[in-house]
Amino acid sequence: MLFTREELMETVKERVERCTACPLHLTRTNVVVGEGNLDTKIVFVGEGPGEEEDKTGRPFVGRAGMLLTELLNEVGIKREDVYICNVVKCRPPNNRTPTTEEMFACGHFLLAQIEIINPSVVVALGATALSFFMDGKKVSITKVRGNPMDWLGGKKIVPTFHPSYLLRNRSKELRKIVLEDLEKAKSFIKEG
Ligand code: SF4
Repeated sequence: MLFTREELMETVKERVERCTACPLHLTRTNVVVGEGNLDTKIVFVGEGPGEEEDKTGRPFVGRAGMLLTELLNEVGIKREDVYICNVVKCRPPNNRTPTTEEMFACGHFLLAQIEIINPSVVVALGATALSFFMDGKKVSITKVRGNPMDWLGGKKIVPTFHPSYLLRNRSKELRKIVLEDLEKAKSFIKEG
């Protein structure tokens, strides 16, 4: 029997809601699984939920999320047409960076989500999300941003800065760089 993408994603959501595999379950208000179009060719992945996301159970709804939506609009991508999620599904206390152990305890959910959606491109928002796709290797996002990497199943990973970094460093140059990276990611959708 074949399941639809919606049914498969619902199963992931139910598993996340029951998950106690890492200490982050102790402090979460809501799990934040992800949201968007399951038929998209592009998925955006951040590191983990923040305060607003924890309150609402939705990804990227705080200030960084609003900025992400704005940047997507600028390159002609509608937020509702793409899928947005994080590596870890529960908020790290005080918005600290998730540990490598937490990322790898949770990462199988993200891998399942990507398998269900089967996009051509995954945009890694920030160094932490990128490190997940590089088996935990720490890399300088400044050095590798905009450089697409081949990943499983012929997919491309396109790294760029996390929008919260742009909120802390409001320079026109930085914004231009992120827009270029998003354009690059978009070009792989067309190729795909
Ligand atoms: S962060 Fe992930 S692994 Fe940890 S408790 Fe939440 S769902 Fe489970």
